[in-house]
Formats: sequence, structure tokens, C-alpha cells
Amino acid sequence: MLANLHNADIPQPVLDVIARLRELGHAVYLVGGCVRDMVRDVPPKDFDVATSALPEEVQRAFRKVIPTGIQHGTVTVVQGGTHVEVTTFRSEGDYLDGRRPSSVAFERDIVKDLSRRDFTINAMAYNPLDRDLVDPFGGQTDLQAQLIKCVGSALERFSEDGLRPMRAVRFAAVLGFTLDPDTRDAIPATLGVFRKVALERVREELTKLLLSPRAEGGLVLLKDTGLMDVFLPEVAQATPDAARLARAAVQAAPAEIEPRMAALLADLVDRTQAREIGLRLKFPNKVADLVALLVETAKLEERVSDTDAALRRLLARVGPPQLPQLVAVARARVQVRAPERVAEVERLFARLEALAAAKPPLVPKDLALTGGDIMATLAVGPSPIVGEATRFLMDSVLDEPALNTAEGLKQRLLAWRAARSGA
Ligand code: ATP
Ligand code: MG
Repeated sequence: MLANLHNADIPQPVLDVIARLRELGHAVYLVGGCVRDMVRDVPPKDFDVATSALPEEVQRAFRKVIPTGIQHGTVTVVQGGTHVEVTTFRSEGDYLDGRRPSSVAFERDIVKDLSRRDFTINAMAYNPLDRDLVDPFGGQTDLQAQLIKCVGSALERFSEDGLRPMRAVRFAAVLGFTLDPDTRDAIPATLGVFRKVALERVREELTKLLLSPRAEGGLVLLKDTGLMDVFLPEVAQATPDAARLARAAVQAAPAEIEPRMAALLADLVDRTQAREIGLRLKFPNKVADLVALLVETAKLEERVSDTDAALRRLLARVGPPQLPQLVAVARARVQVRAPERVAEVERLFARLEALAAAKPPLVPKDLALTGGDIMATLAVGPSPIVGEATRFLMDSVLDEPALNTAEGLKQRLLAWRAARSGA
């Protein structure tokens, strides 16, 4: 494992920042997720630098520095065209509200900084120039044993920051690790603190869990620890069978947030509830709306006998750009819920795709007549009848796309008006 670390590919600008701070006599290390990933021989997403230098000292040491979060000790050094985050060693005062520390203090000692971190595997520091690994809490051992274990007392750490239990489950899912027994047992005991956490932070962890290759296992852990009851009772209270199918559908769906959320919810809630859940978890409106739409339409196995006209109406409702995601959610559900129907449902997907590929008129602006044309044909100005006429024409072309010519629609429109005034 140390060999992995010593051979890891670290970007030159990051090495330059470390070298410069070291040259000025400061202690300086890579910390957190990147050290964990390098020890595992996985390329880190980003490289965080921690140093004994105070933020002002870091600012003075480089030509271009952005004071990103200077009051918390973080500055961004712009070095060789890349951004390198440098944070002064910190310790944290008492947590009063289960969310954030009452104070932070800058420290000279890396171990102080590591001891405020959440899990042993996230509490290692490495200086690549000196090949010096600082691992005071047994992070390497726990990485090897594939364990998520709190730094220090799990009960205390979870009582300080209620998000940590959610992070523990997220890391277990993403890494395929197990929760250490003490860490696991501390979760139900500190749910009261978890309840105070902003749902936005919960959602960030949930998203990482859902997009991981072991989302299914992560959802089981969320349920079994009681975390899910707090932020997703609709799923937590499903029957064991329904919950198992929903989890399997999540795993079978593509690793994007909308299809995975829709796969989780489609057979447990309706579209309105799905949208409420999305908004409650502070997903962007766009995401909540698409999840709701996918939940509403996901049960495509119920539509295998639909006519082309009915399927065009479905396409109009969903919007062709969303069709791939709808098919993906429907496929995932059918694979786990009714594998014997996969072939039949795949034929429906092919029909839907062929109908979409023909680019039929689906919305008013696809009509061969503009609003102006409609008013001219009817010899009216802007008035409610224009909306009615547009709906009538839309309905006609959804039934029969070939009708969508200017001349054909004009004639239909006149016949429609004649029938109306006759009635
Ligand atoms: P990822 O690869 O998912 O980004 P990461 O370990 O980098 O994983 P971050 O959320 O980016 O996770 O956090 C960076 C580091 O900061 C962690 O490795 C951990 O040391 C520390 N950390 C983050 N959140 C907390 C927290 N709530 N409590 C204690 N330490 C934390
Ligand atoms: Mg990170």
C-alpha cells in the first residue's frame, strides 16, 4: 500500500505548491480523500493540501492566490494554470448545534488537524517530497480491512456533526466497505442530531450513494440504521418486498440521478409525492420535475397494447429528449419486477423510439399553421378560441401526423368551426 502512495501520480502544480511551502519552513501535506485514494491505488478526484502556514503566509508565498474561504483557513493557489486548495491545519471548538463547530483554531501540528476528521481512512496525511505518511488512527489498517471507522468515539463524533453517519453509509456504499460495529451502533443512538442536519447536505451524500455501483447495499444500510426514516420515510416504510424491488431497480438503472431517483420511487409513490420528495431534498427544480415525470410514466409495461396515437401522446408528455431516460427506468423496473416480460416490453421501447425518430408534430410550434395563420383562417384576433383551435389541431395531428400540412389543417379548422357554429 505504501508503494501505491510513493508511485502515485501527483500533478506537478500540486508538487510545486508543496515544495514552495516546505522551502519556507512550513509543514505541508496532502490530506483527506486524495491520500485515501492514492493508498487504494485509485486516481484521486482532487488534491487537498494542508499546511502549518497561516492563510496570510500562504497568500504571501505565491503570486496568484484567491481567498476562497480565508476565514476557515482555505485559500486557492493558482499554479501552472490549475487551482490548488491550501488549508491551514485546524482544530474545531465544541459543536453546539449538531451542525458546525462554535469556533475553529489554526494549529501547528498535523495530528491535531487529522483528529477532527471523520473516519480513519480519511484522516491520513502524506508529504510526497519526504515520502512521509502520517496515519495516527490506523487508516491504512482500516483501508486494508475495508472498514469505515470513526476517528475516536463514534458516539461523540456523530453527536458533533449529524451528517457524519450519512457520510459513513455513503463511503461504505461507494467503497464497498463495512461499517465498524461501534460506528454502526452509534447511528441509531444519534439520529436526533442527524435530524437537525440541512437536507441539502443529506442530499449531496444521498446522491453519491445512489450513483455508486453499490447503491443497493447503501440503501439497505440507510434503512437498517434508521437514517432513511428521517429523510425518506416514503421508502423507509415500504414493505420489505416493495423496498427490495425498488433497490434492485435503482441498481439496474443508469448511474444518473434522475433515473435512479425515479427507479427508487416509481412503484412506491405517485408523481406529486415524487416531486415533493425531490423538492424536500433540495434537488434543483429541474431534477424534481424530471423525476416526477419519470415516476408518472415509468410503468411502460402497462402500455404494450397502446396504439401509435396513444404512444405519440406519451411522447408529447415526456418530450423526446427524455425518452432515453424513461426507457432506462422502465427497463430497470421490468428487469427486476417481471423478467419474463422483458422481450415484450423491449418491443414497446423499439416502437416508441421509432415513433420519436419519425419526428411527428408533438407541440403547437410543430404545427404547419402558426398562431397567426390560425387567426387569419378563422378571421379572429387573439381570443380564447385560438387556444381551443390549437388544441383541436394538435389532437388531430397526434392521431394522424400526415395531416400536418398548411392546406390540410386550414380545411380541418374551417370544418371544425362550421361544426361548432352548427351545434
Ligand atoms: P470524495 O472522494 O467523495 O470527495 P472526500 O474524502 O474527499 O471524498 P470530502 O467530502 O471531499 O470527502 O471531504 C474531504 C475531507 O474532509 C474528508 O476526507 C475528511 O477528512 C474531511 N471531512 C469532510 N467532511 C467532514 C465531516 N463532516 N466531518 C469531519 N471531517 C470531514
Ligand atoms: Mg473530496
